[in-house]
Amino acid sequence: AHYLQRIEKADGQLNSFISVTAEQALQQAEIADKARAAGNAGRLAGIPLALKDIFCTQGVKTSCGSKMLDNFIAPYSATVVEKLNAAGTISLGKTNMDEFAMGSSNENSYYGPVKNPWDLTAVPGGSSGGSAAAVAAGLVPAAMGTDTGGSIRQPAAFCGITGLKPTYGRVSRFGIIAYASSLDQAGPMARSAEDCAHLLGVIAGHDGRDSTSVARGVPDYVEGLNAPLSGLKIGLPKEYFGDGLDPEVEKAVREAVKVYESLGATVREVSLPHTHYAIPAYYVIAPAEASSNLSRYDGVRFGYRCDNPSDLIDLYTRSRAEGFGEEVKRRILIGTHTLSEGFFDAYYTKAQQVRRLIRQDFLDAFEDVDVLMGPASPTPAFDLGAKKDPVSMYLQDIYTIAVNLAGIPGISVPAGFAGGRPVGLQILGTHFAEAQLLNVAHQFQ
Ligand code: GLN
Repeated sequence: AHYLQRIEKADGQLNSFISVTAEQALQQAEIADKARAAGNAGRLAGIPLALKDIFCTQGVKTSCGSKMLDNFIAPYSATVVEKLNAAGTISLGKTNMDEFAMGSSNENSYYGPVKNPWDLTAVPGGSSGGSAAAVAAGLVPAAMGTDTGGSIRQPAAFCGITGLKPTYGRVSRFGIIAYASSLDQAGPMARSAEDCAHLLGVIAGHDGRDSTSVARGVPDYVEGLNAPLSGLKIGLPKEYFGDGLDPEVEKAVREAVKVYESLGATVREVSLPHTHYAIPAYYVIAPAEASSNLSRYDGVRFGYRCDNPSDLIDLYTRSRAEGFGEEVKRRILIGTHTLSEGFFDAYYTKAQQVRRLIRQDFLDAFEDVDVLMGPASPTPAFDLGAKKDPVSMYLQDIYTIAVNLAGIPGISVPAGFAGGRPVGLQILGTHFAEAQLLNVAHQFQ
């Protein structure tokens, strides 16, 4: 009830929620209370949280930030949602996001932009901007996000909270509306690494309904949070400290690294030589997969349908023309182009080869160091409306995108301010090193 009141009071300004499910939440809270009294409560019984509106939630509108799904009530729940329910958490609602998770500022939402609680003239980041803003403003203690190219880590950085993108395959994608299937991964966004550890322990694990989820035991992510860091080898990728990095962001990150040195870690420079190709490779692969995933929105089976279609082709074309926003259409056009006959090898196959090199860069670096550190984003949160050119928006993700191409985990933790706006320190580890990342992040906090 406390958090529902906070939402009621503050969200008119922030716009971080698309739907608030107050009634269901209070019912769930009663169930959690009873379970606790009976001694059979789940491990997170009674903890309120919010879900990015990309997670299918049975009986609840699941819009993915799009007019296309404005009328869509999900008939089943994502595995992540089922697992959170089984642990006793209470969903307060669905958070705002860039349409189909395409964006870095939350300005691509059909439901309007979200404001950054630290400064209402700034963006909260994207695409999980609603989740980040809601946690930062204390409207909810934690939220779920998804990250295809930075959408958990960058909004976490912009809003001064902690956000973890797990290893690809660590968390089931079943019931999460697909953007780019080979990159999408769900993860927790919260006030601390410790809270993220509790949540990851609940949502991680193999799922027979997602063939890319990995059959590998889920460790206790909380147990190792206080392990000492003496002897930890930190690598600073020199490509993450180059041109375009805001000097105040750099200063905050370097100061954070010094804290780790004082905790007994050693620091050395490393190189990820193919970093430069990450954004171009991503903007071939992600739109290609998106154009295929979004072909299901045809006005026939579910979602938006245009009025009075004259024939079937008119139904398809007008439903898609009216239902999708501008950025989504841009990505569909790019993806359809790069996948078409005659262009496929030059773009898609080439991008997959580049992806392999990017992954190898990380694996080579992890031969020498335990974790990599750098900024989550080259700048702090920018002003609403400041980035009109799509390419300048794409370049925002320079430090986060390669991580998804490589499939490795990454976490952003609050590390001071630049120009009065929060800065995120990004910590990267090798595949399935989430426990280590959470330990390293927790020691800083
Ligand atoms: N900003 C990137 C994009 O627009 C990444 C978004 C995401 O991680 N979902 O594709």
